[in-house]
Amino acid sequence: MNLEIRQQFPVLDQQINGRPLVYLDNAATVQKPLAVLETSRRYYSEINANIHRGVHYLSRKATDAHEAARTTIAKYLNAPHEHEIIFTSGTTDGINLVADTLALSGKITSDDHILISGLEHHSNIVPWQMLCQRTGATLDVIPVTDSGEWDLTNIDALLTSKTKLVAVNQVSNALGTINPIETVIKKAKAHGAWTLIDGAQSTPHMAIDLQAIDCDFFVFSGHKTYAPTGIGILWGRSELLEMLPPWRGGGEMIKEVTFEKTTYNDLPFKYEAGTPNIEGGIALAAALTWMQDLGLDTIAAHENHLLKLATEGLSDIEDIILYGTAPHKASVLSFGIKGVHHYDLGTLMDQMGVGVRTGHHCCQPLMQRFGITGTTRASFAIYNTEQEVDALITAVKKATMMLR
Ligand SMILES: *Cc1c(COP(=O)(O)O)cnc(C)c1O
Repeated sequence: MNLEIRQQFPVLDQQINGRPLVYLDNAATVQKPLAVLETSRRYYSEINANIHRGVHYLSRKATDAHEAARTTIAKYLNAPHEHEIIFTSGTTDGINLVADTLALSGKITSDDHILISGLEHHSNIVPWQMLCQRTGATLDVIPVTDSGEWDLTNIDALLTSKTKLVAVNQVSNALGTINPIETVIKKAKAHGAWTLIDGAQSTPHMAIDLQAIDCDFFVFSGHKTYAPTGIGILWGRSELLEMLPPWRGGGEMIKEVTFEKTTYNDLPFKYEAGTPNIEGGIALAAALTWMQDLGLDTIAAHENHLLKLATEGLSDIEDIILYGTAPHKASVLSFGIKGVHHYDLGTLMDQMGVGVRTGHHCCQPLMQRFGITGTTRASFAIYNTEQEVDALITAVKKATMMLR
């Protein structure tokens, strides 16, 4: 890890309980580099104005910057069309947009099935359950193996001509598994089902090429990709976004309003009611550009190196259980110690300056699959170091000794 990268993250330079902060909760949210912080500061100190409707100079400047951000993001993702990039507040928002508008569209009936996987985050479970409640459709779930991978043995019974939509993540936030989305997307296409990919955990760690992935919807959150909170992206195919009805009503998403009838704006504005997170969109484009300049391969190689070191180091600890042992993983290491509660472990580690996440990671059904209430999870980003992996291992060892 070169020091220059670390120095771009001012928040990391602090002491916790008299020890250097070791931030290993990157799968929950990642820290922001100076390039992004500076973009946000400059937006508010040089540009800030509301967009699209203003005739004045600053409004034009803000509109240009906002739309330029959309262009940058579309190119970064290799989206077929720029107007397919919808600014949202995050992954959860994007999934709810698709689930709600599908329910409103009347295209989902009680004969239809929706397929998700046992590795999903609550935000890729609950909106589909709500859709099923509203439409009478059935929710099916791809089971998970002991190593934390999709069990595709019975996929041909689960993914049939009744399946209307498949919604799965590319990388699991709880276990780090990189899922074979290509296989499932291909099968879905063969059955005429739509596909939504939850890219919340993949976008921070790998290059995303929407045309190669060939799904119908893709969602992710800015705050996990070195950008601020409160901004995210929904990409959807034009034909589908045009077919689906509007979602939230308000300013910006309309063409003409009378009390009798409203006509709606074209994409992407049809789905961008109200004043958006203007600064967030611009900062997200800056964050993706920063990642691209650094190199997605460089980011992945460094994180994989740390993941390997940490996995090896923790494996030596007596009575440790690693959750998620798939051969293809990204950045996440979930574990437990027999007879020790994950919360107690995390609390003691925090006292040693090591910040990890404990609990169900918004994946309660997955925890039930493993018969546990939660795990302790360390997750790595480009700025983490080998010394921090050592600190993690030492902290787990010390905490375990104290708790048993
Ligand atoms: C974080 C996360 C989400 C939810 O993202 P929000 O930013 O909270 O909307 C969904 N899916 C996965 C895999 C995640 O990691």
